[in-house]
Amino acid sequence: MTKYVFVTGGVSSSLGKGLTASSLGRLLKSRGFKVTMCKLDPYLNVDPGTMNPGEHGEVFVTDDGGETDLDLGHYERFIDEPLSKMSNTTTGSVYSNVIAKERRGDYLGKTVQVIPHVTDEIKERIRRLGTLGADVVIVEIGGTVGDIEIVPFIESIRQYRRDAGRDNVCYVHLTLVPYLAPSGEHKTKPTQHSVTELRSRGIQPDVIVCRSDQAIPDALKRKISLLCDVPIDAVISCADAPSIYDIPLNLMDEGLDTMVCRTLGLDPDEHPLDLHEWREVVHRVHHTTRTLRIGVIGKYVTMPDAYLSVNEAIRHAGYAVGARTEVEWLEAERVPSEIDADRLRQLDGVIVPGGFGERGIEGMIAAARIARENDIPYLGICLGMQVMVVEFARHCLGLRDAHSTEMSLTTTAPVIALMAEQMNITDLGGTMRLGACPAMLDEGSIVANLYGTTVVSERHRHRYEFNSRYRSQFEEAGMRCSGTSPDGRLVEFVELAGHSFYVGTQAHPEFKSRPDRPHPLFLGLVKAAVARAEGREPHILDPDVVDVAP
Ligand code: GLN
Repeated sequence: MTKYVFVTGGVSSSLGKGLTASSLGRLLKSRGFKVTMCKLDPYLNVDPGTMNPGEHGEVFVTDDGGETDLDLGHYERFIDEPLSKMSNTTTGSVYSNVIAKERRGDYLGKTVQVIPHVTDEIKERIRRLGTLGADVVIVEIGGTVGDIEIVPFIESIRQYRRDAGRDNVCYVHLTLVPYLAPSGEHKTKPTQHSVTELRSRGIQPDVIVCRSDQAIPDALKRKISLLCDVPIDAVISCADAPSIYDIPLNLMDEGLDTMVCRTLGLDPDEHPLDLHEWREVVHRVHHTTRTLRIGVIGKYVTMPDAYLSVNEAIRHAGYAVGARTEVEWLEAERVPSEIDADRLRQLDGVIVPGGFGERGIEGMIAAARIARENDIPYLGICLGMQVMVVEFARHCLGLRDAHSTEMSLTTTAPVIALMAEQMNITDLGGTMRLGACPAMLDEGSIVANLYGTTVVSERHRHRYEFNSRYRSQFEEAGMRCSGTSPDGRLVEFVELAGHSFYVGTQAHPEFKSRPDRPHPLFLGLVKAAVARAEGREPHILDPDVVDVAP
């Protein structure tokens, strides 16, 4: 029988509900359960694909091409299981399905209402996820209890306990326990109010996780237990942690997973915890011996969540070489200026991540040039690879006017162009390449050596591609197209020999980095950055420098 854990939040947003849910997922997985997760988002967008990353954070891409909420990135990094589109539901997607069914006549003339039609649709999505073989499905409800738009989701999960059976459902509620400096106390009142709000919707939480700056004292736990009617063991203190990877261990110490198991009728003693792999990660997080400075040049650098997976992937690679990585966020629009060029030269490595649209593009191209000319390790991700190509065309092939047709429709050297344009297709609908695509790497190339294989699969999210018409020109001048789609038509990787590290990929490798399994391309960049920081000749293919990840 599949078990379900529903995680709701109260008092305030940004409490780390996604990280709490992910940490619980890791703990349950470490007890030997098969875990899957999903996020229910109360906004009206059908998916986050069209949302501004500067406001909403990155769009996390799943293998099957789902454009999903960034919390799915936390889920994948913590439970280390690939998720799919099915793991993200929004009000918009629920309503568009319900309305499509209504138009098709599926409701047989009934009045279509929030209850039961919308709630049934929500429950059906949760149930479908539960049929895929997981022992436990963890469902995070976005937003905060008390929000207007969250009500259908809360009602659905309330009904779920009746549908799935009492022992198969556990409600975890996350709240804020603020510290008031003038009175020198942590306060429980907001928690009481938020539990009251949840109860007014028919849900009595089984576990209350209290977010606070420091661990809350036992007396406070007793008070919350009494007033919110949960056992004292079910009041879990979750204080600010030095690293997000500490959270599972902290929650384990507080007994979160034990309590959840008991609520679900799973005997914790029969499923002992084996956290040694996670403990190794945490050990590495706290035992770094050097600091590396990696610059990220992008459009949304004032909102680092816009590059969340890139940031985590840099960290993972850093941990693997014993380095703490400090990311310097550089506004692409300002990079061509002298100050930023100097700043770039002082960095140990740079990344130009993915992005859309023209803003800041010349700054990214300038960064690619500075990195190439100054032998600064550079990793180009998606748009970051495209700017490497444009820069190389302009300054090494003499194609001064080279550009991507995304930015200039009149360029005389469209080195990056729509697939459709390259193939003279006029219908541009559905031209976004989304999700996992295989690539074949050239034997002996830098990327093949980093990956340790010549067949790889990475996730994509883009419309434009390297224009194959220019391929031989690039190769003759030294930019190698070192990986392509299996049919050889699409260029997936480019690299420069004779540079400390100058590698670009059309895909988004950041989505597949894990804390205990850094992504080979990020590891390559970070190792070259270590070499630069140490001021020695970098040899990224040196056997003792490259430790090829699986
Ligand atoms: N805007 C570029 C394209 O659509 C790159 C997209 C990206 O970086 N994800 O091809």
